[in-house]
Amino acid sequence: MHEISLVQGLLQQLHSIAKENSVSRVLKVTMVVGPLSGVVVDSFTFGFEILTKEDELVREAKLEIIIPQVTFRCSSCDERMQSSDERPEQCAKCSETLLIPDGGDDLILQRVEME
Ligand SMILES: [Zn+2]
Repeated sequence: MHEISLVQGLLQQLHSIAKENSVSRVLKVTMVVGPLSGVVVDSFTFGFEILTKEDELVREAKLEIIIPQVTFRCSSCDERMQSSDERPEQCAKCSETLLIPDGGDDLILQRVEME
């Protein structure tokens, strides 16, 4: 499962942040998961639950996931549409199907609360 390695990468990142800041516990992690990133949120959450159990630093950490809205631009009439789950099937104005997303494919560690 692709998400497990993403969680592993996240945990490594958290460990180095914790080390830099001399903290021993992570309380909350906020991730921004772009709807076009290909990350399955349920799998990511599941991976997080499994992997954090074995890890003193993050054992009690809560995971918050934010899914941002993505703006799609119609390639034909320049109409803009927002969507937070999937690519709209077609332009609401002219029915063009080639819609160009602006971002939405990122996986970002937005905030970490530690003590
Ligand atoms: Zn259009």
